[in-house]
Formats: sequence, structure tokens, C-alpha cells
Amino acid sequence: MTPKLLPTSIVGSLPKPSWLAQPETLWSPWKLEGAELREGKQDAMRAAVQEQTRRGIDIISDGEQTRQHFVTTFIEHLSGVDFEKRETVRIRDRYDASVPTVVSAVEREKPVFVEDATFLRSITDRPIKWTLPGPMTMVDTLYDAHYRSREKLAWEFATILNQEAKELEAAGVDIIQFDEPAFNVFFDEVSDWGVAALERACEGLRVETVVHICFGYGIKANNDWKATLGAQWRHYEKSFPLLQRSSIDTISLESHHSNVPLDVVELVRGKKVMLGAIDVANETVETPEEVAGTLRKALEFVDADKLVPSTNCGMAPFPRQVALDKLSALSAGAAILREELTGARA
Ligand SMILES: [Zn+2]
Repeated sequence: MTPKLLPTSIVGSLPKPSWLAQPETLWSPWKLEGAELREGKQDAMRAAVQEQTRRGIDIISDGEQTRQHFVTTFIEHLSGVDFEKRETVRIRDRYDASVPTVVSAVEREKPVFVEDATFLRSITDRPIKWTLPGPMTMVDTLYDAHYRSREKLAWEFATILNQEAKELEAAGVDIIQFDEPAFNVFFDEVSDWGVAALERACEGLRVETVVHICFGYGIKANNDWKATLGAQWRHYEKSFPLLQRSSIDTISLESHHSNVPLDVVELVRGKKVMLGAIDVANETVETPEEVAGTLRKALEFVDADKLVPSTNCGMAPFPRQVALDKLSALSAGAAILREELTGARA
């Protein structure tokens, strides 16, 4: 069977149910604990899978129902990081945050998300994608009082991520995505060690690998930063040539309503491209024609059999109905273009 053309997927988060965490709030704390939290997360995954399926999403993810934060939830499970000892650092050169401190060698004493991924595998027959933070973005979310070297710490994290990724693969995950928004900020480090650390995290994997780089959630600090970036966001010109030569299979970036010039996609020619055709900073739900229009324009720079229609970033801060309607718009828009390309109704 030939793979479906333009398989749809979401980048990351969906809104959480109000009984699990405060909705429409990024990184809100869990409302449950212990066995109840475990069961609550599983129920939330059931709902996320059901809605994605119902609304025509082809590659299923957990909608980040298992994470409070896309980076720190992973780090919380490691030893060597003291969450009580906090320092204020500048995150991605953009906003100050109080972060935990690396106090000794970092280690993964047990699997982090493998049980959650095994559960996700058990409730859907569609391909599943699991997301992990990228090494550089992890480093940028901590104060390091032990290694005193961003590169060394990134390498340690890459080794840990590789252990986790291999176990996720064994649990039946089809695609592993690494979130590396830091790749749009620290250009020298991206070429010095960033891409190498990411490849180390993917070493020996047989599953498909994705790197998601972006300009962030639609929160104020990011929106203010974006306002300073000018009419054309050409940041990807730094990382894309390096990624084009890397072992990473798929590159994920935003497009709809962004100032990213689409011609940057040409720089990763040969790779699969997960292209954001859904705005995550605006609650207006796209029409299917708008989605198809964004995707159609990308076909100048990526072969149709390598295009994966997606969202720009996570949708956790949205009211639930908005996020779900955007899922429907994404699959309806992809269907329009699919029909144009194959001349057949899906
Ligand atoms: Zn993103």
C-alpha cells in the first residue's frame, strides 16, 4: 500500500481537560496526584486520540496530555537537577525565568514517557508520534552549576534522550519529534554542537525522526519578540543547511500567518517537511481553503510526497472548541489539496 499523500499531524499540545489542569493556561499545574493523576492523564489521552481521529488527523500524538511543560517535565525525571535550588536566567535570550539548577551529573534512572507512550500505542491503530525536548532547548532551560559548559551538558542530555527514544521505539512509537526552538536563537551553537547533539539523540533509531523549530507559542513574550524581527524571518537559513546534511528525517516549521519566507524550505530539499498551516496565536479558525492555500504555496519548495500538513506549534492555550475546530480545518484543507494532486476524492 502506498502511504497516504499529505498525512496530517499536530506539532504538540492540545488543551487539557479542566479536571486535569487549568485550561487556557500554559504550563498549569496538575489538579490530581498519584494514581489519580496517572488515570487522569490516560483519560485525557483517550479524549485527545478520539478527537484527532474523528477530525481526520492521520498521525496521532498524545496532545501533550502527559506533560505539564514541554521541557521541564522531562527534566523532573532526571537525577542531578535540583528543582528547589533556583536561579533566574534569560530563556532563549528573550524572557527571564526562575529555573532549576544542575548540581551533579545528570542521569535518567528510569524511563520517563515510555509507560505513557505504551498506553497511547494501545488505544490507536494509526501511526503515533511522541515528542521529546531537544538537547539545546533543555540546556537553555536550566542553570548549570556542575558542567559549566552548555556543550557538555547538551551532550549528556543527548545520551539520555537517545536511551529514552530507543525505548519509545521499542514501545511501538512510529515517529519521534525533538522540539528545538533554541535553534532559532543560538546560531553559533547550532553549527558548533547543536545539530551534532541532536543527531546523537537520534543515533541508532530506525523510527522516523522530526525536529520542530519555531518562533514559539502565541504568548506575550514571544509575540513581542516576533514584532522586532522585521518583515522576513530568515532565521531558518542558519540551521536548515546543516539539517539538510544531517540524519534527521523531517523538519517542522510554522508558515500560516508567519513572516517566515517559504523559500527557506528549499534549503532542506530532500527532507520531509512538516509545515504549519494553522496559526496558534490567533483564535480565528482557518477555512479549509486557507489551509490548502498555505500548503499549495509550499509545493514549490517541497515534493508533495514529502509534505506533512501540520499546526504552527502547540494549541494548549486555546479554548478547547477552537483547537478542535482547527484540527478539522487542517484535515479539510489537506483533503482539498490531496484531491487536486491525485484527481480523486478521498
Ligand atoms: Zn513550536
